[in-house]
Amino acid sequence: MRSKYIFVTGGVLSGLGKGIVTVSIGKLLQSKGFTVGPLKIDPYLNIDAGTMNPYEHGEVFVLDDGSEVDMDLGNYERFLDKILTSKNNLTTGKIYKKVIDKERKGEYLGKTVQIIPHIVDGIQEWVKDVGEHKTDFVIIEVGGTVGDIENVPFLEAARQLALKEDVYFAHVSLVPMLKAVGEFKTKPTQHSVQKLREIGIQPNMIICRTEKPLDGKTKEKVSLFCGVKPENVISDHDTITYEVPLLLKEQEVDKKILERFGLGNGAFDLKEWTNFVQKLKNPGKEITIALTGKYTGLQDSYISIREALTHAATSLNCRINYRWIETTEIEEGKVDVKTALEGVNGVLVPGGFGSRGAEGKMKCIQFARENNIPFLGLCLGFQLATTEFARNVCGLKNANSTEIEPKTPHAVIDLLPEQRKVYAKGGTMRLGGQEVMIRPESFAHKLYGKTNVRERFRHRYECNPKYISILEKNGLVFSGKAPEQPIMQILELQRHPFFVATQFHPEFTSKPLKPNPLFSGFVKAALIRFS
Ligand code: GLN
Repeated sequence: MRSKYIFVTGGVLSGLGKGIVTVSIGKLLQSKGFTVGPLKIDPYLNIDAGTMNPYEHGEVFVLDDGSEVDMDLGNYERFLDKILTSKNNLTTGKIYKKVIDKERKGEYLGKTVQIIPHIVDGIQEWVKDVGEHKTDFVIIEVGGTVGDIENVPFLEAARQLALKEDVYFAHVSLVPMLKAVGEFKTKPTQHSVQKLREIGIQPNMIICRTEKPLDGKTKEKVSLFCGVKPENVISDHDTITYEVPLLLKEQEVDKKILERFGLGNGAFDLKEWTNFVQKLKNPGKEITIALTGKYTGLQDSYISIREALTHAATSLNCRINYRWIETTEIEEGKVDVKTALEGVNGVLVPGGFGSRGAEGKMKCIQFARENNIPFLGLCLGFQLATTEFARNVCGLKNANSTEIEPKTPHAVIDLLPEQRKVYAKGGTMRLGGQEVMIRPESFAHKLYGKTNVRERFRHRYECNPKYISILEKNGLVFSGKAPEQPIMQILELQRHPFFVATQFHPEFTSKPLKPNPLFSGFVKAALIRFS
């Protein structure tokens, strides 16, 4: 079958959950046996998300091939259980760079290089390349909202592609409810569809983000003013993200899209997904996990960690409450660590950059280590756990990471040798999927059940090989290592209910139906505490 293309555009506001709608449509088609290739278009000039601040833009997700991408790709991988590549995330920066590189090589010799046709053609080629002419559906989420200057070339590319290929347009728009009058307001959606039509795109389906289920009268109104059949006005009311495929299914979104493409409505299998959603909505128990991070970044900057905890917790019939620990307050003595961690079932120290709050994070790690509180450290969390152990168990006074204190007398964490010559910041860390050799009989081995796994990395610093033996002599177990270089990748402590840290990011490989084993082990240990 020749690939078919579904474009998902957005209206009125950003942050409507367009990414979740996009991948939910993909999930429904996949559950009917079709192959699906998602593409996220980010209309910014950065080549990728790697240089952006996660507290403003949300987490930087890392793919197996080492690309640093928009956090929506994390949802795509979690929903579709597929390994994606840099091809699945297009930015304005990438497309301009490609065209400008070609121009420098002389491939357009004699021509004036322009947005139309060169950039717009380049976008169409990219979109088609995602399907490689063999994926049944390419689903393209156009970032931003219709009417933004930035996404005009992408929408123009979509319009032109529809002249040559089988294309479907779904528009996700806000339908607010004015509480004082108790009425849904359709005007913002009408305006955004008008904008879309000005560009030359008539949507086939309008997916309305609302607080409450949309009533028939409102659907009729949207239908009439926006030129879409009433049955193609869909209610996307507030619910948990993993339930969105089921919400769209109830309204036969998949069937309607398939009919439009002249395809049959095949058998359907979402049983396990539905069970997962049921369990997620009805947890038996609750636990509290302390997360050291910035409260302001709570929603999006730690999204994969929160999802990985949700996957593990749901499989164990429980729910996670978060306690956000602002570690600068611990360093400054405004809060003492005992009070901050009072009553928590586990402590998680996530990845990060720079020195802010590092001393406070180490206080949390020390408290968890000495008081048998389950602890999971990720990337920077691994480096700080190593440093804390060096200082307080090995007696290496003022040990530190050179990222935090370049003049430390004991650089237990130092730059990776291959990073010494690197000055540019974009895409230059040790990135992506790498092999981890697991030590037989270790705790990590028990959790993974194998001695060789692949996990994703994003770091410049590592445990300094010069300090490995002294750390080991004092009882730190490095249970995961790189196969060919002396890079320490997992550490653990014996005689502790759960003290594990990883140089990699296990949160990136966790899936709803396949929680990452380290997260499962952590949540299991957290459940036992106080029980
Ligand atoms: N800043 C540390 C490094 O570069 C940790 C990175 C991270 O936590 N992702 O190695």
